[in-house]
Amino acid sequence: MSAQIINGKVIAEELLLSLKAQIDTRIAQGKRAPCLAVILIGEDPASAIYVRNKRLACDKVGITSLAYNLPDTTTEAELFTLINKLNTDDTVDGILVQSPLPAQIDEKLIIEGISPDKDVDGFHPYNIGRLAVRQPTLRSCTPFGIIKMLEATKIELLGLDAVVVGVSNHVGRPMALELLLAGCTVTCCHRHTKDLAANVARADIVVSAAGKAGLIKGEWIKPGAVVIDIGINRLADGSLSGDVEFAIAKAHAGWITPVPGGVGPMTVATLMENTLLAQTLRESSIS
Ligand code: NAD
Repeated sequence: MSAQIINGKVIAEELLLSLKAQIDTRIAQGKRAPCLAVILIGEDPASAIYVRNKRLACDKVGITSLAYNLPDTTTEAELFTLINKLNTDDTVDGILVQSPLPAQIDEKLIIEGISPDKDVDGFHPYNIGRLAVRQPTLRSCTPFGIIKMLEATKIELLGLDAVVVGVSNHVGRPMALELLLAGCTVTCCHRHTKDLAANVARADIVVSAAGKAGLIKGEWIKPGAVVIDIGINRLADGSLSGDVEFAIAKAHAGWITPVPGGVGPMTVATLMENTLLAQTLRESSIS
């Protein structure tokens, strides 16, 4: 067996086209373009690439992007001042603070400082809580994007055994909540899990977000399973790899995402969708 590839680039491109059409229609009706404020602190090269991709996506769909590039000496108080200004600016719909943040800034406090209705990353405890109680609004971009990728396979998710590897607040936990919402029976694995191989081997859907190249052995994959690889790992030769042994896993799986070209583009496209959603939700709460 050789798995079908879930092509995140193609699915993301379709989503961006649809968002552009919706935004064009709204502008033709006299509404303003959605606006995303992107805050980048310091010179981390990977963060700079992620932010550039997000700004390019904004340009593509017609979202106004405001760039705040701050030095890595920025204090928590200075960042709060900027976030508070953006929170109260009616022309700003979404606020994104690119992680990682310098050591002097507490990321948890910053996330809680962003107004939940502008939290287009879907990281605020309010938005994670809404997902937990089955009333999602702004959903964490990577997990939400993965649900769209799973929908593209047209596989019925109800009742499937899903195993999520990695339980971070931004990725693994909201991923588990998304799969639970979709009706899967969800198991969460993490660095203290006793038998990762056995858990992965019984999964109909494996989602890995550990950030460890080669962690998920290809031969663990159940025949026909769906394999979603969130991990982005830079190898010694400079190339990118996911968490899954792709070539061997592909021979076992029914569907699999590549790295790069899998989950990454969906994360960016879903951020664009969240920014438009944030604008429309705020409009309806104001009117
Ligand atoms: P993190 O370091 O915060 O969390 C890693 C998780 O993996 C932890 O819960 C940890 O318990 C678990 N883990 C680590 N080693 C393990 C092991 N040996 N066995 C089982 N579990 C183990 O990382 P994160 O922010 O959640 O990101 C995870 C990966 O996803 C990274 O590679 C990151 O770059 C990538 N990522 C990709 C996208 C995308 O759009 N493609 C978005 C966000 C994150």
